[in-house]
Amino acid sequence: MLRHQFLQSLAQTSPSPLMLEISHASGCTLTDTNGKEYLDMISGISVSNVGHRHPKIIEAIHKQCELYLHLMVYGEYVQSPQVLLAEASTEVLPNTLNTCYFTNSGTEAIEGSMKLAKRVTGKPRFAAFYRSYHGHTQGAMSLMGSEYFTASYAPLLPCIDFLHFNKQEEIRKITSDTAAIFIELVKAENGCIPIDPNFLAAIIKKCKDTGTLIILDENQTGFGRTGSLFAFQQFDFVPDILVLGKGMGGGMPIGAFIANHEHMMQLSHNPVLGHITTFGGHPVCCAAALANLQLIANEINLNEIKLKEALICEQLKHPLIKAVHGLGLLLAIEFESEQINQQIIKHCIEQGVITDWFLFAPNMLRLAPPLTCTNDNITYTCRTIINSCNKILI
Ligand code: PMP
Repeated sequence: MLRHQFLQSLAQTSPSPLMLEISHASGCTLTDTNGKEYLDMISGISVSNVGHRHPKIIEAIHKQCELYLHLMVYGEYVQSPQVLLAEASTEVLPNTLNTCYFTNSGTEAIEGSMKLAKRVTGKPRFAAFYRSYHGHTQGAMSLMGSEYFTASYAPLLPCIDFLHFNKQEEIRKITSDTAAIFIELVKAENGCIPIDPNFLAAIIKKCKDTGTLIILDENQTGFGRTGSLFAFQQFDFVPDILVLGKGMGGGMPIGAFIANHEHMMQLSHNPVLGHITTFGGHPVCCAAALANLQLIANEINLNEIKLKEALICEQLKHPLIKAVHGLGLLLAIEFESEQINQQIIKHCIEQGVITDWFLFAPNMLRLAPPLTCTNDNITYTCRTIINSCNKILI
């Protein structure tokens, strides 16, 4: 009945939705309406970093619900959940990232950062990488560099220059007309390809020479996923604008773009209301995000992320597995073909393990479990993937 209505009354985004009917979720486990349990090894695409319904997140939500829900569009009233979250966020960031704008989503944060870069630099162009995902609104989609996904929506924004990732010679495309370059340190939807530190260093140098801002999209890499609170802490540099979302809210919808105060003040005048949003920085989401940040910064042992990554890599050895890409618990298992990958994903779901593919790497299997997953969860998942591979080889 519900399944029929799902297909009938909700907009569909693919010809064959998974259609799992989940009745409840806790920790790393989703339970369907028949009582079957699934290990969530993708965290709703890097969202449930602290697991589903963490008690501290639920407590923070309850507490805020007792006080107020929505009061006013972003930026007018002094609302303690927003202020406390901003204070706690900037405390864990370098000095220059000291002013937060909270949004509804990662995509909206990308949009805000595009506008801010134009205001700060007065320049018209952006640089972005081919086949990178920054969101699905028309501005963010303009940064995607994928003919397949964007052709139907032309014209998108003009003045975007696309670069091939990790190719030094591409850096010439950043010029004195470039307001900002959008980067991910692990290019997630391309199959979790880490940036080459030499390539990053060359980008940083070129951006300094051309007066171009670096906008770092940590939607997928943020909040502990790669083994540090933010991935940039492992790459020894500080972006001009940091974009966050996904794992930020502990399961609640919130994003942010964070920059220095002087730059951010540009949004307040000439014209005023440089970016406005009705629900961005919703008090309940901010309360959840504060609890989430405290959990990841203080309670979850991020040193274990690298050990969990190693455990996965150690166990995923099979003739069908060509490589494992990524950093920390943001991993892509590469197979020969999309067809093999789809068979394995299907078999895993039958065995109660949820994995996924990547937008620009359909031959790769996504592993991005809650950071709180156990070694047993990992071993069960790896065994299931290896069993699926063996089934295919037979
Ligand atoms: N940037 C990256 C790197 C993402 O992976 C995503 C979402 N997959 C976004 C931006 C957009 O985030 P959202 O869908 O939450 O708006």
